[in-house]
Amino acid sequence: MNEMRVRLWAAVILAGCLEAVVSLVLGTWYGGSTGPAAGLGILVAAAAGLAGGPVAGGVVAAVGWGLFFWLVANGAVREVLALPAWIALAVLTGLLGARLWGVTRDRERLGAEVAALRECFRDAIFTVDSKGSIREWNRGAEELYGYTRDEVVGRAVTTLAPEDRHDELLELVASVGEGGSAAREVVHRQSDGNEFGVVLTAASVPAGKGETAQVLVVARDLRQLHRAEERVREAASKYDALAAHLPLAVYAHAVGRRDRLVEISTPVEAMLGYSVDEWLAEPELFGRLLHPDDRERVMGELAAAGEKGVSCRVEYRLLARDGRLVWVRDESVVLRNAGGEPACTLGYFVEFTAEKRSEEGRQRLVAAEDRALAQALEKQRRLDLLARANAVLASSLDYQITLRRTAELVAQEVADCCVIDIVEDDGSVRRVAVAYGEPRRVGAAHKLPNEPEEAILRVIKREEAALGGVRNEGDSSFGAFESYICVPLHARGRTLGALTLLAVTPGRTYGRDDLSLAQDLACRAGLAVDNARLYAEVEERAEAARVLAHVGDGVCLVDRLGAVRLWNAAAEAITGLPAGAVLGRQAIEAIPGWRAVVEHIPVAASPELHNTESVPIETPGGERWISISGVEFFGGIVYAFRDFTEEHRVDELKAEFVATASHELRTPLAAVYGAAQTLRRHDFALDEAGRDRFLSLIVEESERLGRIVNEILLANQLEGGRLELACEPFDPVELVERTVEATRTHVPPHISLEIAAPSAVPAVAADRDKLRQVLVNLVENAIKYSPEGGAIEIGLEAEEDIVRFWVKDQGLGIPYEERGRIFEKFYRLDPQMTRGVGGIGLYICSELVSRMGGRIWVESSDSKGSTFLLELPVTATSAVHPANHKVQAT
Ligand code: ADP
Repeated sequence: MNEMRVRLWAAVILAGCLEAVVSLVLGTWYGGSTGPAAGLGILVAAAAGLAGGPVAGGVVAAVGWGLFFWLVANGAVREVLALPAWIALAVLTGLLGARLWGVTRDRERLGAEVAALRECFRDAIFTVDSKGSIREWNRGAEELYGYTRDEVVGRAVTTLAPEDRHDELLELVASVGEGGSAAREVVHRQSDGNEFGVVLTAASVPAGKGETAQVLVVARDLRQLHRAEERVREAASKYDALAAHLPLAVYAHAVGRRDRLVEISTPVEAMLGYSVDEWLAEPELFGRLLHPDDRERVMGELAAAGEKGVSCRVEYRLLARDGRLVWVRDESVVLRNAGGEPACTLGYFVEFTAEKRSEEGRQRLVAAEDRALAQALEKQRRLDLLARANAVLASSLDYQITLRRTAELVAQEVADCCVIDIVEDDGSVRRVAVAYGEPRRVGAAHKLPNEPEEAILRVIKREEAALGGVRNEGDSSFGAFESYICVPLHARGRTLGALTLLAVTPGRTYGRDDLSLAQDLACRAGLAVDNARLYAEVEERAEAARVLAHVGDGVCLVDRLGAVRLWNAAAEAITGLPAGAVLGRQAIEAIPGWRAVVEHIPVAASPELHNTESVPIETPGGERWISISGVEFFGGIVYAFRDFTEEHRVDELKAEFVATASHELRTPLAAVYGAAQTLRRHDFALDEAGRDRFLSLIVEESERLGRIVNEILLANQLEGGRLELACEPFDPVELVERTVEATRTHVPPHISLEIAAPSAVPAVAADRDKLRQVLVNLVENAIKYSPEGGAIEIGLEAEEDIVRFWVKDQGLGIPYEERGRIFEKFYRLDPQMTRGVGGIGLYICSELVSRMGGRIWVESSDSKGSTFLLELPVTATSAVHPANHKVQAT
């Protein structure tokens, strides 16, 4: 382009100058016709067009015409008509010139290209002219034949062949003649004399203008060809060996058509059991062997890759001939031809069953590990829950509180609602705990009543856990809940209640794990309830035992095997048997006489029906009478007994007293009756003395009767607290003297009565008659229990604020240990030696003295007689018992 521009401007400038010269010369100095000037001007313009192109021609023509018009034609108008001819000729010439310039350039470029091509080819290329001389010689020829261009150009072509092959070469060159081509293997010789085979391809090159025809010869070294072929063969065999020994099957097929295999390598047979021939013969084999589960996916991916012409990587299972399932990894690429169009699919598949298995195994292991971890976590969570539940249940002995807290814990952790019902002692079932979980899940519709549901009562009754979906069983017990699990609370073989877990989540049903967790919780809750109840029971029993230790009655519990289980302090005291000697032993062995005792005791089924029985038992302290009753209960028989010995003795004494009193009453009555009968029947036969004797007898016996009856009445009054005593001061000495005086009238001859009284003794404040009765009784006893006779001293003395009386005899005396007891009612030392109503005389004395504010006692020895003493307050201290003050005996 630049060159063209240079030429254009050069042509315009040079031609313009020439036009100016022509116009000036011919217009100024040539005065002839304008024709030569016009012709010369047009010629210059045409030459400018030829050299610079149509534009340069047109411009120069226009400039030349202008110069011609003004300088030569002197502005003749007719010359204007010649202007188009100027321009047309110049432009046409310019066009022709441009064409010529283009052809020239093409030829030059073509020649350069051919030369470059010759140089580029590795093959030897040379040309031979019609005379058989070498004309062109490229670098490949230099390398092949060893001749440089300068050495060979112009020499005969036969230089290249051994002498015996000249004809062969010339014949080939000649054979292509003008037009056509030929190829042949011939033997050539290099510059160093080596002969070698070449393939010559000769083609005629048509002769150009002024040139002779040539023959273009291309010589290809056969040795290189053979080497290349050898390399190809080597590569092919290496490929075959590689394909045969690689642990993968290489294949090629039409793009996207696995059913149109064109090649597959032999390892496929070892891999799947089908030979290469079978693969190539059966187009459907791949689809047939493809695992049904993988078929759709794999075919889809292969087809998509084929459509898009892209590579593909896919894993799938193939069924081997021997039934194995072979995992393969398949990778393929689409090969394209020179035009970029997909030509075929080339790929391989390699087995990775072991890897897959190990991967699957690893995944299974990972999954198992995950499961184990999840299970461990779940187990840990449950253990945590159980531990927390344990802590809650053990936190208090009030099981209602601990059960409520446990229910709250369970509702927070594993259920939407937790309910605990307890069986009471009377067999009724009471709801003690209801706890709800997440408020967002559990609403008002899930609120449960305070009464246990039928389903729970059934579980408690059957003692069997129940679980399942609420709706599945058509049980509407649990309202809007979806499923439940209910387990009984057990302890020591008894059902104590039920633990119920409820879930809101639709479709959720409790499983075996939940059941075992609920049973664990129920077991712990059951033990807690049982422990709390046992503790309460033990507390109750301990309290009862403490009470039993302090009750006056003996309590003995004999279990169903006859062993003593309870023996309280009173039982120890009554029987004299320590608990240690009795507890745990058989009652009949540990308690003397128990077998005989048990035979007499009626055992009642309940405390209201019991009967007491009085039986004697042998104790280390002698025989004792007990009043005993027995009540049976589930653990054995409980016996309650009290010491009845004293009452029994009194009863015996009473019976004896009645007998004695009856006897004592009957004797005087018989005497009176006899005397009266005698007087009535034999009155006429009796003299005065006889009548007086009988009458005296009647009087004496009547007095004796009266005395006995009075004693009995007085004892009765004292016992009943109905006796009123006077309390007035009197002279005790005077009372003693009168008493002794009255007694002297019937004193036996071998007994003497003596009074020992000081001259002055303060007055005492008491009931004078009753004191006299006391003294009489003491004196009569002294007489009665002095069978050998002797002196009886009745004395008194004052000491400070009391007056002491005594009656001292020389009779039988009273054993030391009996001194206290002789003042008891009905008590006598020797029942044979009695007169009157036995055993109540001293009792009356003791009671009377006591009620008069004094005291009475006896001092005695076994053989030296007895001294009965009594003290009464003197008048000065009678403030407590003022004179004339009647006191009520108590
Ligand atoms: P009783 O004389 O009718 O048997 P008492 O109550 O008067 O009843 O006496 C109780 C017992 O005390 C008598 O049975 C007797 O054994 C004993 N006793 C009473 N006085 C004397 C006495 N002075 N000497 C010996 N023993 C006596």
